[in-house]
Amino acid sequence: VTGADHVGRIGRVLEAAAERGADALVLTPSPDTAYLVGHAPRETERPTLLVLRPGEEPVLVVPALEAPLAEASPAGGLAALRLWRDGEDPFAPAAAALGGATRIAVGDRAWAVHLLGLQVAMPDATFVPAGPTLARVRSVKDASELDALRRAGAAADATFEELRSHGFAGRTELEVAADVARLLIEHGHDRADFTIVASGPNGASPHHEPGDRRIVPGDAVVLDFGGVLDAYCSDTTRTVVVEEPPDGFDDAYDLVRRAQQAAFDAVRPGVPAEEVDRAARAVIEAGGLGEAFVHRTGHGIGLEVHEAPYLVAGNDEPLRPGMTSSIEPGVYLPGRFGVRIEDIVAVTDDGAERLNRSTRELQTVA
Ligand code: ZN
Ligand code: ZN
Ligand code: ZN
Repeated sequence: VTGADHVGRIGRVLEAAAERGADALVLTPSPDTAYLVGHAPRETERPTLLVLRPGEEPVLVVPALEAPLAEASPAGGLAALRLWRDGEDPFAPAAAALGGATRIAVGDRAWAVHLLGLQVAMPDATFVPAGPTLARVRSVKDASELDALRRAGAAADATFEELRSHGFAGRTELEVAADVARLLIEHGHDRADFTIVASGPNGASPHHEPGDRRIVPGDAVVLDFGGVLDAYCSDTTRTVVVEEPPDGFDDAYDLVRRAQQAAFDAVRPGVPAEEVDRAARAVIEAGGLGEAFVHRTGHGIGLEVHEAPYLVAGNDEPLRPGMTSSIEPGVYLPGRFGVRIEDIVAVTDDGAERLNRSTRELQTVA
């Protein structure tokens, strides 16, 4: 994303790290480095290590053959590059940049072999996960990030609106999934990321992989899909019925729809994340299907499709304006069907904004 305030982001991350008692961070190529320095090549056996310390210029330890890539990225203007050639020890320049750091926060996505190399180079340091520090900063989106998430949400909505006018009966899940992937891109995504098409009894498996099952009248079909647009993710779920609903479906759908609304209504600044989960769960429990709601109510979304904050029992973190997360209650009845309804929601100054607006009324498709 162009125009990102990388310097401000690095400052906030260093502050959040200090609050957690870490005096340095080491991050490898990941959404974390995309966020902080606009550089996230594929992580490989050749380590790239971003070293951040308070009061010091950021240092990027880079394999020499990837120096042109790093120099051309925003990282080239933000960090001092320390090149290492094949055959040299990449952890020596990292240890030098880390100086006397004693408690080093390491990115969650770092390959174990790279962390193990750092540990050998710095035997006296303690290594802790950087995840909570990065989550603290990345979970609150700025205006340009919210704009990208809104556009990704709108593109996902347009995908569903077009998809529901296509016929389902007689096609396989894989054929519909290919349709979804194509539509995600046609409506503005740079790439499709995932396309769950779970028909009939397969809908009772929340993360079903689409397969060869042919969709028939009387099926409910769970459609959960998303892609990436300007580096930010979309993720939405709608459940449709083919010609007519299976037995018991209408009541289950109504329950999930009311649970989704109750969770949305619970979102505002200061509310603990777990309260949103509780709001959805209370509706489904009151309807007698509590046991069938087998997952948390939602996950944060941004550069990653699943990130903080998680809307789950036990997470008492208060919501803050600018946080974005899914709200996706569901019920899963083995051998029969599943229902899930998912929208991305942003926390505003006094409530919440839906970033998905396609209809939540039950849609009957052909
Ligand atoms: Zn999921
Ligand atoms: Zn989803
Ligand atoms: Zn989701």
